[in-house]
Amino acid sequence: MEQHARTDAYTDRYAARAAGMVPSEIRALFAVVSRPEIVSLAGGAPYVSALPLDIVGDMIGDLVAGRGAEVLQYGSAQGDAELRERICEVMALEGIRASAEDVVVTVGAQQALDLITKIFIDPGDVILAEAPSYVGALGTFASYQADVVHVPLDEGGLIPAALRETLDRLAREGRRVKFLYTVPTFQNPAGVTLTAARRSQILEICAEHDVLIIEDNPYGLLDGDPMRAMRADDPERVIYLGSFSKTIASGLRVGWVLAPHAVRAKLVLAAESATLCPSNFSQLAVREYLNTQPWREQIKNFRELYRERRDAMLDALETQMPGGCTWTRPAGGFFVWLTLPEGLDSKAMAPRAIAERVAYVPGTGFYADGSGRRQMRLSYCFPEPHRIREGVRRLAGVVEQEIRLRDTFGGAGSSIPNGVEAPGPHVV
Ligand code: PMP
Repeated sequence: MEQHARTDAYTDRYAARAAGMVPSEIRALFAVVSRPEIVSLAGGAPYVSALPLDIVGDMIGDLVAGRGAEVLQYGSAQGDAELRERICEVMALEGIRASAEDVVVTVGAQQALDLITKIFIDPGDVILAEAPSYVGALGTFASYQADVVHVPLDEGGLIPAALRETLDRLAREGRRVKFLYTVPTFQNPAGVTLTAARRSQILEICAEHDVLIIEDNPYGLLDGDPMRAMRADDPERVIYLGSFSKTIASGLRVGWVLAPHAVRAKLVLAAESATLCPSNFSQLAVREYLNTQPWREQIKNFRELYRERRDAMLDALETQMPGGCTWTRPAGGFFVWLTLPEGLDSKAMAPRAIAERVAYVPGTGFYADGSGRRQMRLSYCFPEPHRIREGVRRLAGVVEQEIRLRDTFGGAGSSIPNGVEAPGPHVV
């Protein structure tokens, strides 16, 4: 069995693009993180149990009983027209004025990422992405053989001066950048938010260099007053990705892309060949939910729930973590990005953390170039606050042990595989 898992008799038949599809070394570890004794600070799954599941269940039951012939049928490749209207109302909360004509409903924002990469990227084309960046996007970019060039971020999000420098350098090298991929609000994995001033600067820099921007914003409504989307200020340059995964439920797999008119037409053709149409069942469930349920109130409930969990994590980090560790302080979203003291390696440490019954995602998965050994992503979206505190307590113990090991033997060390790691179902 072991032998079968390692050798792939089909290797010489795969397309070249399959070489970029590399399973994560830590995937095996995730098989165990669902065990109840392990506190998982690794998963990015939203806490869907906070929905009024009985009411949603009745709503879906009534939908099928009353309009089953429509709900259970194929739909249009672009997505349900009325749902696209509702999506425009949701985006208006972030200052976006858009026509439902320019929205394409997708199977989560993940499919939008796939379709965009498919229509824009030839092998070797350059994509700029934050360092660190969303692991699922990096996987998609790798599967289309893009060359990802990272641009650093800090507590205020992507750094405009670094973006300018990178674009100037690539221009000098004669390399054209196809687009900048950014998660400006409550970034995955860093938890940071791009400031309003930087949003304008980045729009300006990208206009000067004539670079498109992919603004991926699944977390934007998950705290405070929503930030103004970059798309609101440059509809021709910014392609905007949204999702109901975090505001309603990830299992419905309903996301969308808002694109300039011509790009939208290409996306619909690409979507049609990928899936014919997104699930009508899921779309009409979302439409009905938005039409009949107090969805704004429910988002507020989610915000409060995640805020309490974030505070539990930040407080536990503050009181438990040994000196030398630093971390981000997210204003919303799901994630804290932690940097270990010099000489520690989050990947080498992962199995030892699992042995101590706590899991996290090592930083290397969030870079296309193998960096991130000292970093890790800690998510607070799923475990209850007392479990988060316990998880951080265990993690702090592991880090303390690693520091002692480092001081005795001079560094943990581990090899980093080439290629972008596929996240596995629990990581997103
Ligand atoms: N973009 C980002 C930044 C994400 O974090 C995720 C999922 N966690 C996605 C896109 C994909 O989400 P979905 O396909 O569920 O909409």
